[in-house]
Amino acid sequence: MQAFEATNYYFEKAASLLDLSSNIKTLMVVPDRELRVEVAIEMDSGQIGNFIGYRVQHDNARGPFKGGLRYHPHVDQDEARSLASLMTWKTAVVDLPFGGSKGGINCDPKQLSRSELERLTRKFVEKIHDFIGPDKDIPAPDMGTDAQVMAWIMNEYSKFHGFQPAVVTGKPVELHGSAGREAATGYGVMLVTREALAKLGKTIQKSTFAIQGYGNVGSYTARFLAEKGGIIVAISDAFGAIFNQEGIDLAALDKYVATHGKIVGFTGGDSGSNEQLLRSPVDVLIPAALGGVFDASNAAEVEAKMIVEGANGPTWPEADEIFQQRGIPVIPDILANAGGVVVSYFEWVQNQQHFRWNLDQVRREEEERMVSAFHKVYELSQKKSIPMRTAAYMLGISRVGRARVLGGI
Ligand code: NAD
Repeated sequence: MQAFEATNYYFEKAASLLDLSSNIKTLMVVPDRELRVEVAIEMDSGQIGNFIGYRVQHDNARGPFKGGLRYHPHVDQDEARSLASLMTWKTAVVDLPFGGSKGGINCDPKQLSRSELERLTRKFVEKIHDFIGPDKDIPAPDMGTDAQVMAWIMNEYSKFHGFQPAVVTGKPVELHGSAGREAATGYGVMLVTREALAKLGKTIQKSTFAIQGYGNVGSYTARFLAEKGGIIVAISDAFGAIFNQEGIDLAALDKYVATHGKIVGFTGGDSGSNEQLLRSPVDVLIPAALGGVFDASNAAEVEAKMIVEGANGPTWPEADEIFQQRGIPVIPDILANAGGVVVSYFEWVQNQQHFRWNLDQVRREEEERMVSAFHKVYELSQKKSIPMRTAAYMLGISRVGRARVLGGI
């Protein structure tokens, strides 16, 4: 099964519970526009580097397309389609006036120098600038991209269209970014985890957590959970995992990662594999790296009491069924990791208003949106006796469908 097929499986499952005509369903599944561009740059060696960039604009019934930009060797058209569609449902679940898109460049950013990365980013913008814009499509960071990449996008775009900081979100705070954006996805993951644990009569304090991925989402999630008294017993990255039943010392880990670029070799815990991490007997398991982590081969071995999807698309449908049969609640990606796009929306609003919010305001507003979305999804799942993923899709699909019908075809 391909990633887009998996997303559409979840779509179909929820859509079948809604009274939607097949025409509207087709309209909502098929992406609006797909771009595939060659991004050729001169490498530092003098050789020509040929890369392929993608941007899939899935649906804009509720507002401009919105979605991240990923730099990773797995980036392809199908992945971009799947992630763009997830963004459509996600922005609707948290009720933002946006649609969904996603894109990226097939490359390994770790193998590129800073100047190669800058040339690659600027060339990509040169190719797609007519298709993005503050009221058209607004990129943001995702795997392999960060605030610096967003700053280059804003700067390159301005050469064609003038000063338009709202063309991209996740920018550095010193360059029209928003306070709290970098940490926003992790903060949101912590908030929904708190709410979900409360439904089980538990709190973050004293609960145990295993987190796959220690990049933007994983590291901030770990930090916010630890601040609330959570015990982070396992963390992994692309190179391996570390385990400590007493709780990993995150400040010491951050220091180690800052010098070594990975968690492997950190002496504040026992080392192990990513597969081991997924089998950790913890209260909450949080995938915060790649998609397609849980499949039919490993879902039965998961020993966590709950899964919170920090990453996009970490669970294949077969694994989802297994979790359901085993009674392991899954807080789905389109709800759990929506904090990033929520604060991206606040950044876009601030850019449009030429006005700045402080961190307290950002955090307060993010909490309000995330908690309210969690409870809407939770209540729907209880009322209909369906998993939270199906409930989240139902909520997203019904909002997008309504906008489609009201706006006309
Ligand atoms: P990132 O590039 O900052 O970090 C990714 C992390 O995953 C790194 O620690 C990397 O070493 C690790 N990793 C890569 N391959 C791995 C593997 N095979 N096993 C274990 N770890 C592995 O990326 P990010 O921005 O933190 O994004 C992570 C996930 O969260 C992605 O699925 C992304 O789509 C999703 N997401 C990100 C945001 C955001 O605001 N950045 C928002 C919503 C969702």
